[in-house]
Formats: sequence, structure tokens, C-alpha cells
Amino acid sequence: MFEEKEKDKEEERKRGRDDVTCTSLSPLPRARGRGKTPRNMSKNVVTFHYTLLDPEGRMLDSSAGGRPISYLEGVGQIIEGLDEAMAGLPAGTKTRIEVPAVKGYGERDDAQVQKVLRELLPIEGELNVGDRFQAGTDPYAPIVTVMGIEGDEVLLDANHPLAGVDLTFDVEVVEVRAATAEEIEHGHVHQPESGCCGGGGHGDGESGGCGCK
Ligand SMILES: [Zn+2]
Repeated sequence: MFEEKEKDKEEERKRGRDDVTCTSLSPLPRARGRGKTPRNMSKNVVTFHYTLLDPEGRMLDSSAGGRPISYLEGVGQIIEGLDEAMAGLPAGTKTRIEVPAVKGYGERDDAQVQKVLRELLPIEGELNVGDRFQAGTDPYAPIVTVMGIEGDEVLLDANHPLAGVDLTFDVEVVEVRAATAEEIEHGHVHQPESGCCGGGGHGDGESGGCGCK
């Protein structure tokens, strides 16, 4: 009698453990957008290395030799074409991804090219074609490029330097993990070592911040 009860308890414990194991082994979302899990509850944090090439195959940028990049998928932390193409790639994947300009830094907009009086620019000293500077004190002010100088006027281009450029990325997926509820809520990655934000700022009015202002 006593033994049997013990046995039952053990069975229960086993079942309990099995349940726990089962739950903890299935943190990854299945097919996105299916099942009962709301889509925004099943995002991944992806960590990857990349090398960016222009259409002529010249290297523009690379994370090689530095820290890999981490992003929360599907929230615009990286350019759209890369975000889309990398969705669902498992860790260890090495692949080449072609991103057309429209899904990269956008098409060029001629309205972003303007003539401005030299004296209105927040730049002292010499100014040369090709110089780049921030067009204002606002941290989100666009970076502009000097396209030409004619007398008192300067031709400035506020397009992103890679606007209108088709991009090629050689990527290596280093890690894929399920995002925490907090990361999904904040819309950015928290660094595991510090519990802090990995980029993307918090608005001043944001409540329940992650404590890394
Ligand atoms: Zn945060």
C-alpha cells in the first residue's frame, strides 16, 4: 500500500518533470503566424556577422573581427530586406543575401538635394566637396554630404549614402534565441551580460524601462 503510494508519487513527479521538460524544450515558435501564439509573442533575437558589398563587389562594411550584430526580428532594427531574408535561418547558416535599394536604404530622393547658403551651415573653417556633417544639433538630424560649392551656396545631399544602391550581404547566423517578453515589449534587444538595451533608445516618457538610461 505504502509502496504503491510512493510509486504513484514518483510517477507524478516523473510526469511533472516531463511536463516541465516538454515546455522548456519548445520555446521556439513554429510556423510564424500560425497556432494560438500571437505573432508578436514569437519573435527571435538573431545574432549574425555580415560583410556588405556594393554592386561592384567592393566591401563597404563588415562586422568580421568585431562583435556580431544582434537584432529583434521584424521590428525594423535592421534594414527591411535583410530582416525578411534572414527570417527562419537557423544558427550556423552562411549565405549571400541580395537586397534591392528599395528594401535597403531606399531609393534616392532628388528633393533631398538642396542649395543652402554657406553662412547658414553649422560648420566653421574649410568646406570641401565630399564632406559629411550632421545638419543640425538634433541627434536625429540627417547626415548631409556636400555635393558642390558655388560661391556663397553649398549643394547638400541629405540622402543616405547608400540610398539607391543595391546591396549584397554575406551573412553568418551566429545565434538564434527566442526574444524575452520584455524585449518584445521594448522593441529591441537586451544584452544578456548587462540586462541592458542593445541600441534603440527608450523614449523619455517610456515606463517600465530596462534601467539603462
Ligand atoms: Zn529595453
